[in-house]
Amino acid sequence: SQQTSPTQVTLLGATGSIGQSTLAVIAAHPEQYALFAVTAHSNVTALATICVQFQPQFAVMVDPTAAQQLTQQLRTQGCRTEVLSGTEALSAVSSAAETDIVMAAIVGAAGLLPTLAAVQAGKRVLLANKEALVMSGQLFIDAVRESGAVLLPVDSEHNAIFQALPQAAQVASHSMQYADFGIEKILLTGSGGPFRELPLNELAAQSPAAACRHPNWEMGQKISVDSATMLNKGLEYIEARWLFNCAPGQLDVIVHPQSVVHSMVQYTDGSVIAQLGQPDMRTPIAYALAYPERINSGVPALDFTTMGALTFSAPDPQRYPCLQLAIDACWSGQAATTTLNAANEMAVAAFLHGQITFGDIAVVCAAVLEQAELSELTTIEAILACDEAARRSAALWIQRRGH
Ligand code: NAD
Ligand code: MG
Repeated sequence: SQQTSPTQVTLLGATGSIGQSTLAVIAAHPEQYALFAVTAHSNVTALATICVQFQPQFAVMVDPTAAQQLTQQLRTQGCRTEVLSGTEALSAVSSAAETDIVMAAIVGAAGLLPTLAAVQAGKRVLLANKEALVMSGQLFIDAVRESGAVLLPVDSEHNAIFQALPQAAQVASHSMQYADFGIEKILLTGSGGPFRELPLNELAAQSPAAACRHPNWEMGQKISVDSATMLNKGLEYIEARWLFNCAPGQLDVIVHPQSVVHSMVQYTDGSVIAQLGQPDMRTPIAYALAYPERINSGVPALDFTTMGALTFSAPDPQRYPCLQLAIDACWSGQAATTTLNAANEMAVAAFLHGQITFGDIAVVCAAVLEQAELSELTTIEAILACDEAARRSAALWIQRRGH
């Protein structure tokens, strides 16, 4: 590629698991990528370390007290990064004229507005924050269309699907017509999480530590719990529906415990195209950063002679009730997916704080969905109001289930 000045990256959620993997890829390519801005919620030490190493122009700390501490730490260390604070600053750095690429790696609903700001500003948006798309679906995709933003999936399954599409379909995968490309369906794989083989009667009482012990991937706590319930696969199902313009019947979930096949596309001639790799997020991150080129991600190649058997099966609905909740929500409309996402965030936080059991996560999500008023949501205000209503309802159910 041409030797010009480095591409400027805004990294939302720099201190998280995806944030750290993104920093590792960027650090390996200093001529190609520089950080314009980094953001975090409140981890001062971690963000200070990042600022000293990468010297971004801006660092956003959502928490104001943490922002003051960061300012002081950076001053004593002679780092000239400017510290901003508050949620509006997140949107400011993700839509700033100086930034080319925005990595959306905040966890949960908190990522929606800054991710949308990047989309509306027409950036190249690397989407890890699946909850943003689940919450706002059509509105998000419409914003991509209107601004001409380039939306590249980072979630490993969606990145795999994207890689298995013909280039002409990649250009606007959110609007692609399956018949135009001979696509029959998308096969979304998932490991089944840490409780795949546990006796069903032991599921409900599993601890947060056990739920966070994922067999293949090292991730943040929220997505780790979502993997144990397989609501993560449910959110990914909804995410895939928007990213790849799926109709019902064009999207299947398959359990694949080894996490070697990251997902597949099935074509009408009987071909199935898959992307394979190590379970390491630096691969999809490097792909999305450099697309349509390829750069070194630091991830070693697969060794087929030592990996052992790859197995596949259908998900067990009794073991993973949250998966079906999400699939049903997907086809019943925006209010259902926004509601489910909010109820789940509340339930997972309550589970991690020891307030409810693992089994209660599905109970709370189902109860909130059942009671929700599912009107159409076409504006961001309506989406945020729906999210808040679902959180209030979830809080009541958590109290009721709580011990
Ligand atoms: P994490 O918990 O490790 O990190 C979350 C980041 O978001 C942190 O930098 C934190 O400071 C920031 N954050 C949290 N709450 C915030 C708030 N209220 N306002 C602003 N910033 C806030 O999470 P993660 O595992 O890196 O996941 C990030 C996103 O990427 C999630 O949406 C997840 O589903 C998705 N994802 C993660 C992985 C993975 O391997 N970790 C894989 C695929 C998709
Ligand atoms: Mg995934």
